[in-house]
Amino acid sequence: MTDRKQNLLALSFEELEAWIVDLGWKKYRAKQILSWLYRRRAADFEEMTDLSKADRTLLAEKASLHHLEIVTHQRSVDGTQKFLLELEDGNRIESVLIPGDDRLTLCISSQAGCTLDCGFCLTAQEKLKRNLKAHEIVDQILTVQRTLPEETRITNVVMMGMGEPLANFNHVVEALKRMISPIGLGFSPRRVTVSTAGMVPQILKLWEAVPVNLSISLNATTNAVRDQIMPKVNRLYPIEELLKVCKAFPLPSRRRITFEYVLLAGVNDTPEDAARLVRLSRGIRCKVNLIPFNEFPGSPYRRPTDEQVLRFQKTLLDADLTATIRKSKGRDILAACGQLNSEFAARPLSQKQLEPIGLLPS
Ligand code: SAH
Repeated sequence: MTDRKQNLLALSFEELEAWIVDLGWKKYRAKQILSWLYRRRAADFEEMTDLSKADRTLLAEKASLHHLEIVTHQRSVDGTQKFLLELEDGNRIESVLIPGDDRLTLCISSQAGCTLDCGFCLTAQEKLKRNLKAHEIVDQILTVQRTLPEETRITNVVMMGMGEPLANFNHVVEALKRMISPIGLGFSPRRVTVSTAGMVPQILKLWEAVPVNLSISLNATTNAVRDQIMPKVNRLYPIEELLKVCKAFPLPSRRRITFEYVLLAGVNDTPEDAARLVRLSRGIRCKVNLIPFNEFPGSPYRRPTDEQVLRFQKTLLDADLTATIRKSKGRDILAACGQLNSEFAARPLSQKQLEPIGLLPS
């Protein structure tokens, strides 16, 4: 029975070595097996052709390679693909594959549901079901990669799917290590990004553990507004504390923190907000990524017009801040930022909710 077998993908590198030694094999065989799991992405033990037939049979008796199950797989008109994936205990999460000109980015989840209660995010409505284990985070990459042709490789990973990564700190760090290790998936740390709503104590700790890119969801320029739209996290860590840790952040040269800023019409998109954002970001090596609000069924906020978005951006650019507008992809299949929710997975948006994106740069 599978449940008595050890799922090798669930083991850390050190645990796999110990398991191999317990089996009576030499320790170095762990590296050989790791290479099959992560580099060559074997689907079963039979593919591990540099192991003898007897060894492969022994492994198949004692171990399994259990992957996430793809429940549904939707494709947006813009090429974005959304995967609804089932964990071993039946909980479900989503991952989104986003093609770009020179990259193929996978947006992955860190929790089933979310610890936080941000009012503009559909995942928050699901509440936290549980933290994902390290292998469930990494396996989103393996599982989606397996649906692609051999020559099509996922080039970038962003932890911007369901959940607050820094509220699941240990598992996220272990997953990131497996992603960037040369004996794991081998991603360059520059191609891996963690997005946080601003869990201040964990921000520096994360960087010390794994130096990946950091995106911070600032989303407001006053505590009054941030308390309203991101109540849980801002009451714990108000804007001043968040900016203090950003200023203290030991960024290597040529790297910058990204501030994400979801634009909600009439809430945080005024000219005064833009001017305050300029002031708040002074002294921090950063860029700003503006995300016009993506609607979802029953959402309490509105997306600003394209003109408002461009005006907000111009204030930042005029102050010499780097400010980009995120072109939200996959909105027709609820795959864009803030639209992930395993319970809404199959419901499309109406045409009205998909309007206006014409002016924004493509
Ligand atoms: N919990 C993490 C990662 C998930 S959210 C975080 O807060 O950063 C990823 C990004 O999507 C965040 O910047 C968030 O502010 C933004 N976002 C959430 N809901 C959104 C929505 N409905 N429209 C646009 N962006 C949204």
